[in-house]
Amino acid sequence: MKVAVVSFEVYPLAKVGGLADVAGALPKALKKKGIDVSIFMPFHKKVKDNVKKLELPLKKVLDEFDLGLDTTEKASLFQTILPGTDIPVYLVENAHYFSSEDVYGSPDGGEQAIFFTKAVLESIKKMGEPFDVIHANDWQTGLLPVYLKTVYSNDAIFSRTATVYTIHNLGYQGIFDRLYMDFAKLPGYLFNPDGVEFYGKLNFMKGGIIFSDIVNTVSPTYAQEIKTPEYGEKLEGVLQARSDVLYGVLNGIDYEENDPSSDKRIPYHYSVDNMDGKWKDKEELQKEMGLEVKPDIPVIGLISRLVDQKGLDLVNDVMRYVMSCGVQFVLLGTGDKKYEESFSNLAKEFPGKAGVKIGFDINLAQRIYAGSDFFLMPSRYEPCGLGQMYSLRYGTIPIVRYTGGLADTVNEFDGEKGNGFGFKPYDSAYLARTIVKALYYYNRKDDMKTLIRNAMTTDLSWERSAQEYLKLYNLALKNH
Ligand code: ADP
Repeated sequence: MKVAVVSFEVYPLAKVGGLADVAGALPKALKKKGIDVSIFMPFHKKVKDNVKKLELPLKKVLDEFDLGLDTTEKASLFQTILPGTDIPVYLVENAHYFSSEDVYGSPDGGEQAIFFTKAVLESIKKMGEPFDVIHANDWQTGLLPVYLKTVYSNDAIFSRTATVYTIHNLGYQGIFDRLYMDFAKLPGYLFNPDGVEFYGKLNFMKGGIIFSDIVNTVSPTYAQEIKTPEYGEKLEGVLQARSDVLYGVLNGIDYEENDPSSDKRIPYHYSVDNMDGKWKDKEELQKEMGLEVKPDIPVIGLISRLVDQKGLDLVNDVMRYVMSCGVQFVLLGTGDKKYEESFSNLAKEFPGKAGVKIGFDINLAQRIYAGSDFFLMPSRYEPCGLGQMYSLRYGTIPIVRYTGGLADTVNEFDGEKGNGFGFKPYDSAYLARTIVKALYYYNRKDDMKTLIRNAMTTDLSWERSAQEYLKLYNLALKNH
């Protein structure tokens, strides 16, 4: 099977968020399963820098060509490889659209996305080799399935190409003025409520949802939740209408980069069979964060963008009470001023007990994942969530709100089975009770051992996810 993964970000060539991790890791795992996989992404300035820095091979595949859009800008196509593999990465080049420092820094994100999407399809046509499946991601490539089912519907090269469309974050849909229909040269009849129109505007993500053969999001629970008004961001009706082809596939994490037995970012190494290093990491973390160095006090960690999505109002509500239960608290994050201030104040109120670092620091993050006993993540909504997965991998027990990917990766510990603790109602009293329950188990050393073992042996690998995507690709081919 020949698959093209199309994404605006691909780790390590250009990364802003979780999309890059998926687009960088999934192709590797697919390749291991025998899939002939290629990647298409824009030749961002950042990608140029990284191709040089990583000394990757680079060749020009297609000279400048016209895209049939309402612009005189032309595209050309380059090719490199995904570092450490022989997976081809096709790079759409255009100085006007892809030169900004920031991947999403173009003054016109709508034109930029359309240009990229159309260039991918034209490139495939010019290269003359059909794909069985095109896997598009997020709003930037939402119009790709729309083009295939309309403008390109009679092109022989795409006649057997099926599409899978993945929603990584329903909060960003790509909503633009109707005029972008003209720029894209999309047929006017598409601009209606059964097509790409959305409250008088053009909605790229809506196009992806309606016109692809299979739609998925990044966890099974989130795939259910987004069909409701509470989580649906006004697309719940469209998602309900497509529920027969709507799936949820959990992301994985990179097991090699995130391995407590070899991670260079943490001071001491450990594994499920020898945990001594973790207790030394805890001691180092206590020192680094200015906490009293005491092995028996439970340390609760939190690493997050400090935004409402992450349930931080609940944390604020309960933390003073929780501190009175004899715990230490470590927080790393940046974001809304109100949270930065309230957590900084907490650290002042509880010297030696609460350590708060406002900032973005991936190395400290890793030391917190390794050195904490518990990890707090009571999100309001969470498409997949990585924090809880890293903490499980490092034997740090997640305390979560059971929503989205958190509900799919964390299971309530019952003394034997389960890898963490959680609650459902968005209510601080439930969070407080859940923390108290976790602390009860903390004092039962044998239970704690079982719990840590369960956490560290939870399967969060990309191999599992790739298997699921393979199923979706086959379904897409069948539906097509
Ligand atoms: P989201 O993508 O909504 O921010 P995720 O849990 O999916 O949430 O991913 C967040 C990732 O970013 C995690 O890997 C987390 O460790 C990391 N992260 C968040 N805030 C910080 C920070 N201040 N410093 C370092 N890493 C952070």
